[in-house]
Amino acid sequence: MGKPTGFMEYQREEAPALSVKERIEHFNEFHEPLSEKEQKQQAARCMECGVPFCQSGLMIGGMVSGCPLNNLIPEWNDLLYRGTWKLAYERLRLTNNFPEFTSRVCPALCEKACTCGAHGDAVTVRGNEYAIVERAYEEGWAKAQPPAIRTGKSVAIIGSGPAGLAAADQLNRRGHAVTVFERSDRVGGLLMYGIPNMKLEKSVIERRVAIMREEGITFRTGVNVGQDISAQEITEQFDAVVLACGASNPRDIQVEGRDAQDIYFAVDFLKSTTKALLDSGLTDGTYISAKGKNVMVIGGGDTGNDCVGTCVRHGAASVLQLEMMPKLPDTRAANNPWPQWPRVCKTDYGQEEAIAVFGSDPRVYQTTVKEFLKDEEGRVKGAVLVKLEAEEDEATGRLMMKPVEGSEYTVDVELVLIAAGFVGSENYVTSAFGVDTDARTNVATETGSHRTNVEKIFTAGDMHSGQSLVVRAIRDGRECAREVDESLMGYTNL
Ligand SMILES: Cc1cc2nc3c(=O)[nH]c(=O)nc-3n(C[C@H](O)[C@H](O)[C@H](O)COP(=O)(O)OP(=O)(O)OC[C@H]3O[C@@H](n4cnc5c(N)ncnc54)[C@H](O)[C@@H]3O)c2cc1C
Ligand code: SF4
Repeated sequence: MGKPTGFMEYQREEAPALSVKERIEHFNEFHEPLSEKEQKQQAARCMECGVPFCQSGLMIGGMVSGCPLNNLIPEWNDLLYRGTWKLAYERLRLTNNFPEFTSRVCPALCEKACTCGAHGDAVTVRGNEYAIVERAYEEGWAKAQPPAIRTGKSVAIIGSGPAGLAAADQLNRRGHAVTVFERSDRVGGLLMYGIPNMKLEKSVIERRVAIMREEGITFRTGVNVGQDISAQEITEQFDAVVLACGASNPRDIQVEGRDAQDIYFAVDFLKSTTKALLDSGLTDGTYISAKGKNVMVIGGGDTGNDCVGTCVRHGAASVLQLEMMPKLPDTRAANNPWPQWPRVCKTDYGQEEAIAVFGSDPRVYQTTVKEFLKDEEGRVKGAVLVKLEAEEDEATGRLMMKPVEGSEYTVDVELVLIAAGFVGSENYVTSAFGVDTDARTNVATETGSHRTNVEKIFTAGDMHSGQSLVVRAIRDGRECAREVDESLMGYTNL
């Protein structure tokens, strides 16, 4: 154990964020790392618990608690505290292919399950992870390590999100010849064209992809499998295929006036900003702009928050964020104890920024859209909103949100962003490969398996499990790689 009294001596300290005024001037990441001494003190807070819930990744209360990658958290906290950075990086990479992504975008399931957090403040596991991986890049330890021997087997990965990248990394390490097909112009999936640059700078993805290229992985961008190249060609050319195309079918809001112009899905909006930022520093005028507009974001989740933060940076006139469900409590309810995932209200960076800029919280709870209003040119100019109340469904006992009669009111909006979640995978890929899907249009497999009903076709990530998290996509990609390897070699050591 590092410092037995560390958790009593040092307070939790996170990397400080730039002020709202400064950070909304750009789309860059906005946290200043702690000093080496401060970060070691944070690592010293780890108690190295005999039963480390932080790394458990168990289902508790119907939700994952602790790290789904089973990262060896107490081990690398200790190594960091002792200043043995390289060893800490090696332990970290053992379970996590991309700590540079998770240490920026993960909601830190580890910290929510940390024993220190049961009666005080959790260990800054994510901050420690960030410090270790960034040190590894600075020191040159994060570098290409191509496999010594090639197996002569080939694998096609369709989709370059975190699941596809994790599967590619694992299979390439094992010596298989891996080709990743990506329909977008850049590699990364939602890491690249979903999560905004201020949360994950895209150079961080490019830095890792450059290493993967050097290690021998082939990336073919701008290739839409199922359209530009047939599923048959892929299956003929490769010994195994991994479908990791994500769950990109957005949930729509089907109400009167939905055909109005200037109503977009959140990912299209976010992608247009990131693409224009990378292509031209936002000077090419190709992105969907919120400048000077009253914006309504439909959906109170993380994607909605990313839209709010992006709109603030565009210079929107106002931002309203609708959430159907009631506001969560500020602290854990009695029926939601540690180490369960805490169902509490969090104010994320975008909402913080909107509060600072507009003077009030953009979120309105228990409210949805009843109708979109159009001007003479067919552009959205307003929306009729309606309040919702929770009612228990007699048949199922579940809480249903029902409109409150007479509670309608109208708001002026000139841009609407739908961030209402996703409803599964796109069917042109699944039908091209002839794979079965389940009722939610995820690719069907036996529980715990990644094999589809079609020989040598496997699946991973959101396309397999539905819209989830980067850390879970990485885990699924790793597990899928193990099955692919076993099918190719007769055994696996991944
Ligand atoms: C706006 C937004 C913000 C998010 N923020 C976070 C966050 O902060 N933290 C977090 O943990 N999770 C976040 N998530 C969720 C997370 O990004 C996803 O769970 C994760 O990226 C899923 O990984 P994946 O590899 O399964 O799929 P994806 O990342 O969706 O990647 C799939 C890739 O497949 C490609 N593809 C699809 N079809 C084809 C085809 N036919 N041919 C070639 N390529 C194809 C797509 O272009 C895409 O690049 C966010 C999601 C969204 C939408
Ligand atoms: S639960 Fe918290 S204190 Fe315990 S080992 Fe994990 S990070 Fe350290």
